[in-house]
Amino acid sequence: MPHIELDHIGKSFGTTNVIRDFNASIADGEFLVLLGPSGCGKSTLLRMIAGLGDITRGILSFDGRRVNDWTPSQRGVAFVFQSYALYPHMTVRENIAFPLVMDAFRKWYHIPVVNTVMRWKLMRRADIAERTARIAEQLELTALLDRRPANLSGGQRQRVALARSLVRDPSLYLLDEPLSNLDAKLRTQMRAEISTLHNRVRKTFIYVTHDQVEAMTMATKIIVMNKGEIQQIGTPDQIYSDPANTFVARFVGAPP
Ligand code: ADP
Ligand code: MG
Repeated sequence: MPHIELDHIGKSFGTTNVIRDFNASIADGEFLVLLGPSGCGKSTLLRMIAGLGDITRGILSFDGRRVNDWTPSQRGVAFVFQSYALYPHMTVRENIAFPLVMDAFRKWYHIPVVNTVMRWKLMRRADIAERTARIAEQLELTALLDRRPANLSGGQRQRVALARSLVRDPSLYLLDEPLSNLDAKLRTQMRAEISTLHNRVRKTFIYVTHDQVEAMTMATKIIVMNKGEIQQIGTPDQIYSDPANTFVARFVGAPP
């Protein structure tokens, strides 16, 4: 059974159809890249999968269960955006641990607010401290754990945001152009970090980009889309060596 099934999925804003009749199966553990030009509907589709935007038409299912009406937390997804906002009054360590602290706090006290004393007590819990340290190490943030966001570079802040999104150990990772604000060197490095993370956790990743190189180097499977429609689904090799139409050929840069 595929992990995720998109069955005739469509999305309209008013009378404008942004996603048209989208059909795809995504296997468990796949690194799926949604590749297409700006404005083709990638973010809209990802947001529907995350539960952040209503599905106008069709059925979305996870492990055979219809999830159209499930909240993001019921779906067990982590969503990494292109833009990010860190809590300015918290250290890097606290920012990264925040989702875990919130989970623990909710479970124990059924209260959605964490005060400073409780936050510090929870931060010392072994599993939270360990998980925070591990993800910080993976993203080379260990030396920065006691700093505050104001004292970080843009790239460092982006990595903290990435660490915070991934700290929860989700079953589905959704990433929307997470590297597009980084400089070229850091982008290459982070690509490798994300691929390593995927190999280690072996969960399903859906990664949105308009960057062909990113798609070719990271994906196990690519969906090329244009104007809200699927142009081709295949492995990077298939897409490159056997493009389905001239749009795909032009977009991935292979000869038509
Ligand atoms: P991509 O992520 O591929 O760049 P988007 O999913 O952001 O594309 O947008 C796809 C299309 O949907 C665009 O034409 C955009 O203007 C439109 N769109 C996105 N969100 C909204 C919205 N909330 N209301 C109206 N139109 C929207
Ligand atoms: Mg987008």
